[in-house]
Amino acid sequence: MQKYEKLEKIGEGTYGTVFKAKNRETHEIVALKRVRLDDDDEGVPSSALREICLLKELKHKNIVRLHDVLHSDKKLTLVFEYCDQDLKKYFDSCNGDLDPETVKSFMYQLLKGLAFCHSRNVLHRDLKPQNLLINRNGELKLADFGLAPAFCIPVRGFFFRLYIIKALCQMSFQLLESQVVTLWYRPPDVLFGAKLYSTSIDMWSAGCIFAELANAGRPLFPGNDVDDQLKRIFRLLGTPTEEQWQTMTKLPDYKPYPMYPATTSLVNVVPKLSSTGRDLLQNLLKCNPVQRISAEEALQHPYFADFCPP
Ligand code: AMP
Repeated sequence: MQKYEKLEKIGEGTYGTVFKAKNRETHEIVALKRVRLDDDDEGVPSSALREICLLKELKHKNIVRLHDVLHSDKKLTLVFEYCDQDLKKYFDSCNGDLDPETVKSFMYQLLKGLAFCHSRNVLHRDLKPQNLLINRNGELKLADFGLAPAFCIPVRGFFFRLYIIKALCQMSFQLLESQVVTLWYRPPDVLFGAKLYSTSIDMWSAGCIFAELANAGRPLFPGNDVDDQLKRIFRLLGTPTEEQWQTMTKLPDYKPYPMYPATTSLVNVVPKLSSTGRDLLQNLLKCNPVQRISAEEALQHPYFADFCPP
């Protein structure tokens, strides 16, 4: 840790406090994330460490680079590439006005980052504007990629499970406290208790973020709880029938909802989005996860036909 000089606190995230810091040798500015998992008995489990270290190999210009993982004294510090601001702050600064080219560019970069990680079987599982970082030159980078599985999947033996339960209790407490956790970007299958996640979980969140970009920061489904969240989704997209989504009724937390009809067009929902943009949005927001478009397919969508990547 002597290698870095802490400059200022820049945020409070899902896993801990984030500081701006300077590498004393290279003078490079970085973001330090101190992970709050103060398990006195066991420290940070090697399995979690291994998974995080794998993320160091996730090198792509639309993924925030994890430079280093520092582990000492039962403390874990992740050293990330520094970015100027997150998308939530960006929305606040653009005063409800985001030009269509910026929307397209951000969406393209979000999908590029997702396609890269999904091709390596890494899921994000908690995509939201706070996790999308923006640079001065309009580059968008996904942050916190792959950290959810490193901390949350209780699969490796009794002691690891015990550790995770303890860690989760601490985390959910902190999450509630700092209002970080949000339902707004969670797909209906997960809201109904699906336990088997696939890349489709991130594609739903990308759809919600696309609509939010098109509306310059107005969230699409700002639900208050799981029930309200599902109602908001079904009121807009229509309650899925068993023909449209056969496995829905078998999900652990499934319960029936009124049969809302689908809104015929998304014009009133995202008035500034072109018709090809609305079509892409519709393909991202499929309630049945199997029908949701993949990141790779989305990049080939006609919405991007006139887009020249920088
Ligand atoms: P997170 O744990 O990624 O949700 O981080 C919480 C907040 O800290 C974010 O919303 C950002 O505002 C800030 N932050 C996280 N990572 C970085 C980074 N690499 N560069 C600059 N700011 C960051």
